[in-house]
This record gives sequence, C-alpha cells and structure tokens, in this order.
Amino acid sequence: MKVSDWKKNVIDQAQIDKYLTEGNDFICEKTIKQKIQDGQNPTDEYIEQIIEKALSVKTLAPEETAALLNVSSEKMWDKIFKAALELKKKVYDNRIVFFAPLYCSNLCVNNCEYCGFREKNCKEKRAILTPEEIKRETKSVLNEGHKRLILVFGEHPKSDIDYMQEAIKSVYEVHEKAPKSGKETNIRRVNINAAPMSIEKLRRLKEAGIGTFQVFQETYHKETYARVHPKDTIKGNYRWRLYALHRAMDAGLDDVAIGALFGLYDWKFEVMGLLYHTLELEKRYGVGPHTISVPRITPASESELSENLPYQVNDEDFKKIVAVLRLSVPTAGLIVTAREKPEIKREIIKLGCTQTDASTRIGIGGYSDQLNQEKQQFTIGDPRDLDDVIQEILKDGFIPSFCTAGYRCGRTGETIMGMLSHCVEGKFCKLNGVLTFREYLNDYASEETKVLGEKIIQKELGEIYKEQYFVDHPKLIEKFDHQYKEISSGKRDRYI
Ligand code: SAM
Ligand code: SF4
Repeated sequence: MKVSDWKKNVIDQAQIDKYLTEGNDFICEKTIKQKIQDGQNPTDEYIEQIIEKALSVKTLAPEETAALLNVSSEKMWDKIFKAALELKKKVYDNRIVFFAPLYCSNLCVNNCEYCGFREKNCKEKRAILTPEEIKRETKSVLNEGHKRLILVFGEHPKSDIDYMQEAIKSVYEVHEKAPKSGKETNIRRVNINAAPMSIEKLRRLKEAGIGTFQVFQETYHKETYARVHPKDTIKGNYRWRLYALHRAMDAGLDDVAIGALFGLYDWKFEVMGLLYHTLELEKRYGVGPHTISVPRITPASESELSENLPYQVNDEDFKKIVAVLRLSVPTAGLIVTAREKPEIKREIIKLGCTQTDASTRIGIGGYSDQLNQEKQQFTIGDPRDLDDVIQEILKDGFIPSFCTAGYRCGRTGETIMGMLSHCVEGKFCKLNGVLTFREYLNDYASEETKVLGEKIIQKELGEIYKEQYFVDHPKLIEKFDHQYKEISSGKRDRYI
C-alpha cells in the first residue's frame, strides 16, 4: 500500500465522534482561562485546605488546582513542595521505579515542529530496527539491570501494529545472564509510547501483553496545537489524539498514561489540561491515568522551534508544575525523564515524582552501538548509567525499584486506583521495591552501590516489620519473608 493511502485510513472519525458531548470535547479554553483567572490571590487558609484534601488522596477540582497555580508567596510554595513529597510517600511509599526507553524506529509521516523525527527533516538518518536488532538492544538494556522497557515509535506504515506486535514479542523473548551473578533475567513489562490508534489495533497491543499505553497530548491549547502540527498530517487532528486513551480503555488497556510537552504554551494552562483529561477519564471509566509525564522540550535536529521556545519553562516553574500535579492527581504516577539535567532531576524526585529512566539512549540502535547517537529525536540532559543514578537516589534516602508486579498480579485499572486511593498499593510498592532492589544488588550493583544499597534495604526492612498494616496482615509478611530468602539464595522474579 502506498504511504499516502495508508495515511488516509488511520483516523476513524466514528471513533472520535462517539466520545463527544453535543459535538464538544472536554477541553474548553474559555473555562480553563476563567478558572485560572478566578483562582488569583488565594488565601493561605484556602491553600492549606486544598493541601489537606490532596493529602486525603482525593483528586482536586479544577478551581482548587487553579488556586495552587496562582500561589505567589515563597512560604506557601514551600508548604506545597513538602506536601507533594509527603503525599507521594503516603500513596507510593519511598520507592522510585526505574525504566528505560527503547526507540525502535524514527520513520515518521508527521511534521511536528519540535521533533527531529519529522518527515521533512532530511538531515535525520532514518532507521527501523529488525527483530534481531531489537533483541540486541534489549540485551544491552538488561545488562544495565532494567526490567521495564517503554518502546517508542514514530508513526509510519512500516512501524504499524504488525511491527509493534513483533517488537514486543522480540523483547519478551530475550533472556540474559546477569553480569555479577550469572542469574537469568528478562524484561518483565513492556510499555508503549506510540501514535494514537483505532480500538481494533489497540486490542492487538493488549493481546501482545503490554503494560501501559502512553500518548502525550503535547499541548491542550487548540490553536497552538494546530500551529505546531500541520493540518495535512495525521497528528494535525487534535481530537484523534485527545481520545487516544479513551479508545485504549475501550480496547481493554486500562493502564493509560498522559502527558504534556512543556514549552509550547503557558504551563498553567497545560496543567489544567492534564487535570481535565484526568477528570474525564475518571468520570467515564472510573479510572484516572496510570501516570502523568512532564517532558520539557529540548533541542532537536533542524528544529528552530525547539531552540527558541515561545513558552520556555524555567526550573522554578518546572518544580511548581510537578508539585501541583502531584497534589492534584494523587493516585497517578509522575514521570520525569532523562530530558532533564541531573541537578534538576534530583530536585524533582524530591517533589513527588514516582518513576524515572536511566542509562538512557534514544538514538535508534543507541544501546548496542553507544557511539551512534545520530538518529535521535531530541537531546537528553542526563546520560548517566543506571548504577550512578541509583547511587544518587540512595544518598537521598529513596529505594530504587524494578517492580513489575502490579499488572502481572492484576492490579491495574480500577483495582490499582482503589488500592492507591486507600493507601494500600504503597504497601505492596514497599515490599516489591525491597524484593526487586535485592535482585539488583546481587546481580548488577557496583561495590559502592552495594554498600549504600544494603543500608537502605535494612532501613526499609526495619520499617516493614514495625508498620501496623503488616502487623495486621501476617500472611503477607510471611510470604514476603519467604520470597526475600528465596532471592537471597539465588531464585529470581519473586513478587507480591
Ligand atoms: N510518534 C509518537 C507520537 O508522537 O505520539 C511517539 C512519540 S514521540 C517519539 C515521544 C514524545 O517525545 C512525543 O509525544 C513528544 O512529547 C516528545 N518529544 C518530541 N520532540 C521533543 C523534543 N524536542 N524534546 C522533548 N521531547 C520531545
Ligand atoms: Fe513523529 Fe512523534 Fe516526532 Fe511527531 S513527535 S514527528 S509524530 S515521532
């Protein structure tokens, strides 16, 4: 099929229209701007009430988020920042989950102005990994110690659903021996970041056994969206993208992930957009997003826009974005990526972020061929190895986690959201954090990381045995003790 014919068949208008309410979608620019305007000059008492509500693990209402966005005093921002970390610990405990992105193809039929992969960028060297190459990349990622991958694709007929299914299969087929212990290891959860698709194609992703399906709206502001995504491209259709995750839910993929690309439009508007997206998913499906991502644009090859951003977000505002989102959507994981430089990433992790990537290479084939970082989508700020990032996390008192238990134990969608809002999932996060980090220490850690890591494990174990929830659930602790011992004696992939 010719590429032009394929392009005509991607969007199914009926799979947009069915979600509209009287012809409208759920993003109303006028309402968002009004809420931000009305939220000006909030009193300290009101902000404290909002913080209290967030700490009781309830999604905030738009006017509450708008009030947080309008806080001006440093004293109140300090309170928000502290509450953000407190809330994160309450819901997700002390762990930071690690993952790695694997870029499979940079072929793309779209022309997003900020992206190096856009079709009109003739300087970009195009490549699409074969199944063998995907396996080679997976081996390299496994050798670092990762257990979770997110596969990333441009939008192109050659990387359509058949290719994606094959790619997922290739990743799951790889088994490698861990460098320090020789124990067999494999990727236990594959997530996907790809263009929006039809419900039929999304069902095939579900069959392939993925964890989360992730699509960033880029910007919720329609005029800006239209400016940076040319009309004659598939991505130019705002609503096809806006309902990508509704279709995923309808296809049975109940772990969905949203995000906005910061730098295109006013960050306060985008935070409100993410909240409205969350509220819409909660209303329709009873489940909000599994995660929210906050990528900031970094320079991309031949993209003038990416070097001269109309709404550049500085580090101070970036911290506010993360803290306000943390409080606004307490049950969502928050992802900060290697786009950020180490110093700011470290600060963001202390504001309630739950997941991050490390040892990241985003060139196509960039893990197995480290010298080849040419075919990449944008520049990254943090190229450090996983072990180095882990050392930093440990020094800050967090426990790194490679947990993939949630979706393998059926804790997805409504089930996990219920457990998160009752602060129960965090208990599982704690146990699985310890189990999977125990594996990492035995299988991959450098000597320095081992010293720091053993201390954190002891601290976490101490907390587990004291915690009332576990005292009340002795069977759970029995199982945990058993699995911990099994891992220490050489067994692998134990989880609760
Ligand atoms: N092609 C698919 C799509 O657009 O949905 C897959 C995703 S794209 C390879 C992954 C994400 O990278 C985009 O959704 C966008 O938010 C982000 N991105 C694109 N250009 C970027 C840049 N210059 N800096 C930072 N992030 C960027
Ligand atoms: Fe293609 Fe995605 Fe890049 Fe847009 S952001 S040009 S759709 S790869």
